[in-house]
Amino acid sequence: MSLRFNAIHNLTSYPEPKVEGPSKISSLFATNVFHLKTAREYLSDEAFKSLKSSIKAGQKIDRSMANQIANGIRAWAESKGVTHFTHWFQPLNGTTAEKHDSFFTIKSDGTPIEQFDGDALVQQEPDASSFPSGGLRATFEARGYTAWDPSSPPFIMEIGQGKTLCIPTIFVSYTGESLDYKAPLLKALDALNKAAVDVCHYFDRNITRVTATLGWEQEYFLIDEGLFNARPDLVMTGRTVYGHLAAKNQQLEDHYFGSIPERVYACMRDFETEAYKLGIPLRTRHNEVAPAQFECAPIFEEVGVAVDHNCLLMDVMDRVARRHKLRVLFHEKPFAGINGSGKHNNWSMATDTGVNLLAPGKTPKTNLMFLTFFVNTIKAVHDYADILRASIASAANDYRLGANEAPPAIISVFIGQYLTKVLQEIKERVTDTMDETDENMLKIDIHKSIPELLLDNTDRNRTSPFAFTGNKFEFRAVGASANCANAMTALCTIVAQTLKDFKKEVDALIEKGEKKEIAIMHVIREYIVKSENVLFEGDGYSEEWQKEAEKRGLPNVKTTPYALDAMVTEKAKRLFENNHVYTHQELEARHEVELEKYIKKVQIESRIMGELATSHILPAAIRYQNLLANNIRGLKEAGLPEEAYANQKQILEKISEHINKTSDLVEKMIEARKKCNKIENTREKAIAYQTEVKDTFFDAIRYHVDKLELLVDDREWYLPKYREMLFLR
Ligand code: ADP
Ligand code: MG
Repeated sequence: MSLRFNAIHNLTSYPEPKVEGPSKISSLFATNVFHLKTAREYLSDEAFKSLKSSIKAGQKIDRSMANQIANGIRAWAESKGVTHFTHWFQPLNGTTAEKHDSFFTIKSDGTPIEQFDGDALVQQEPDASSFPSGGLRATFEARGYTAWDPSSPPFIMEIGQGKTLCIPTIFVSYTGESLDYKAPLLKALDALNKAAVDVCHYFDRNITRVTATLGWEQEYFLIDEGLFNARPDLVMTGRTVYGHLAAKNQQLEDHYFGSIPERVYACMRDFETEAYKLGIPLRTRHNEVAPAQFECAPIFEEVGVAVDHNCLLMDVMDRVARRHKLRVLFHEKPFAGINGSGKHNNWSMATDTGVNLLAPGKTPKTNLMFLTFFVNTIKAVHDYADILRASIASAANDYRLGANEAPPAIISVFIGQYLTKVLQEIKERVTDTMDETDENMLKIDIHKSIPELLLDNTDRNRTSPFAFTGNKFEFRAVGASANCANAMTALCTIVAQTLKDFKKEVDALIEKGEKKEIAIMHVIREYIVKSENVLFEGDGYSEEWQKEAEKRGLPNVKTTPYALDAMVTEKAKRLFENNHVYTHQELEARHEVELEKYIKKVQIESRIMGELATSHILPAAIRYQNLLANNIRGLKEAGLPEEAYANQKQILEKISEHINKTSDLVEKMIEARKKCNKIENTREKAIAYQTEVKDTFFDAIRYHVDKLELLVDDREWYLPKYREMLFLR
């Protein structure tokens, strides 16, 4: 029996999954996390204070303190049966990395002991020569090391065999260049903190720290493992390169509101339990639009921790799903013709005095503070749209962006009717001659209406890539499989830069003798005028918007190789260097890494397309072709008239045509790949892979293969079909 039929057969024999969920989440929550409360128990006063100030103010921890903290962490971990530890980090190849070492060691006199000292906590040298570095390590220094990031708490990973203490770390080269997603993110958060605190001081001198907050919404598909294993394309690339749409897909829109299927529900509860132990504050779970598509979202946290939690959760989901003989697909577009998966990044900024800077205030003063941060964010997106676009570019996200289900490749901002009116009013009423007597205008009463309007779903625009939703912005163009850090690094840096520029302008006016509030209002007005081009309230999926955006001069870069150009412009280099996030070399290196990733992904897809066509599709089609040919020959020999086999002949002709076209195109695609591989320049090679391989052949080959799927005897078809992957579980 083929894997396909075997998998379908096995579906009926899965035992009822048993999941032990907590009766109360709070009793389980973060039990595997070394958070401050646990630290208080395991550390001396001195060590605790040092850890705390390192978390809160980024202060360095000295060696003897590190030893004490390491001992405390080990004591805690051992009390939970942990024998190994690892430095956990987020390399540029898009997954998380870990290398386990045991606490166990042997002293010079031969005594076996468990040990975990400060050095092991603070710094490790993974054998990391095979992580992507864009040539950085070759140029600078052969080795990289991981360094403890105290801002994210250590945790115990429990899934699979054994328990491992994981220390969140950043990954850098010996000369200090970042080799991961986390190091630049921490720098961007620092830049934003400084810039935002400075601006906050116009309104409140008590604010000493601003943190960016992130609540991601993770979309994913869950499909049966047997069916997954029978699709080499899913196994190799995470997406189906072939497959005809099922008779029914999402047109009835019955999945979104449907109840969660039993087998999926068990898996969800199981990974949620694991997530709770790790301190990931999951809150929502529901079906998504496409069949077999789901979403989960946590309560928002500080960006750094939220990024770690998202990476960790993706890992946990993958492992737990396997326990249930299911597979999670995080790919942005696993199935053609139905919705793909994104990861909305809900983002805001919060002060250490407990104020959400993107929540409309209750008094004129806090209103003005809200407007300041609101308008600065819009200005940042306007000025650096290309950089945001680059931050979400990937081979997989290209299948999704602009495909009439996801935000377009044009970065625009949606703010809702009410705030549009408010900005319009400011534009009209703030004039050069405005003085203190006009201060009334500062009292625009926005706090009452905005929350109700925007927190309510009715005034939301789901087609916008960057939407204000009442008390946060929602960056919706981020792909489901992406590390949020990339998008967050870009967003925090551009807002930091914009706030710095804002402060300079306001200070200049104040120096000229303008009153503070009036000065702020003037610069806000100027920013509204300069960035209103990026505001768009209409349907982001529509044809008209493409045209309109072009007229407005907004960039609309549809594919990754070109979108990535924005990483290495003079503008980008200035921006990231000014804010100490990336040096020129780091940007160049990252650009190189992203291009390489793109090339490899397209190359792998192209290879699997060729292989499947030759070894799965064509043999099945040819077997059926023979059957038809024999049938026709037999009828002819039996002396039957032509009408008797006219239909068979017609099908045979069609099949033969699709077979020839498929085989011909596959040959040509292989030739095209060979040519691309000879190109030295990485950018040119990526562009060639896009235009000469992907654009020229992928859809063309798929067209014929999908036609064959409909024509060929179902029994001969070994690849699970869309209806099976999406509807059977
Ligand atoms: P939806 O957008 O699906 O209606 P919600 O508005 O409830 O859902 O929230 C989506 C995500 O936004 C959640 O993860 C939530 O915690 C997060 N969120 C809410 N407020 C903020 C904030 N101030 N900063 C960052 N994320 C936030
Ligand atoms: Mg949302």
